[in-house]
Amino acid sequence: MRVKILIVEDEPKTGEYLRQGLSEAGYVADLVPHGTDGLHMALHGAYDLVILDVMLPGLNGWQVLQSLRERGLQMPVLFLTARDQVEDRVKGLELGADDYLVKPFSFAELLARVRIILRRSPAGNESTMLRVADLELDLRRRRVSRNGKRVDLTAKEFGLLELLMRRHGEVLPRS
Ligand code: CA
Repeated sequence: MRVKILIVEDEPKTGEYLRQGLSEAGYVADLVPHGTDGLHMALHGAYDLVILDVMLPGLNGWQVLQSLRERGLQMPVLFLTARDQVEDRVKGLELGADDYLVKPFSFAELLARVRIILRRSPAGNESTMLRVADLELDLRRRRVSRNGKRVDLTAKEFGLLELLMRRHGEVLPRS
């Protein structure tokens, strides 16, 4: 199956340049120029990676990333930022971005970053970490934390929480 990448970028030239370059590199690349539409596509399009501009109409890149993480989606996110400011980068990384690139960047550099990110996260995060809002469940280490604080659970409670987090947003029978 081919790797699917979503590009959320409102500057037509940059967006088209990325879309074309990534397509030529063998990826399925979709381009959307609006934050809110971008969030919608990222939620429903089963993307392997999202490339997010920070300054966007509708929701900005940070808000898009935050909404994705709050809904438990852990696909890697690469930020594009026009402003080379430390606080921007820190903010993006704190919100759960995997990497960032400062504009202007060369396509070769972007492609290299994309390959590294995809290599280190072949859905790896998704299969071992579940996140819903401030709740985090580490399947590999059998640990739960809320807002960064460890929560002790019995095996049964852990299993139940895992089920609820995996089915986040659904109504489940009591059993
Ligand atoms: Ca922009």
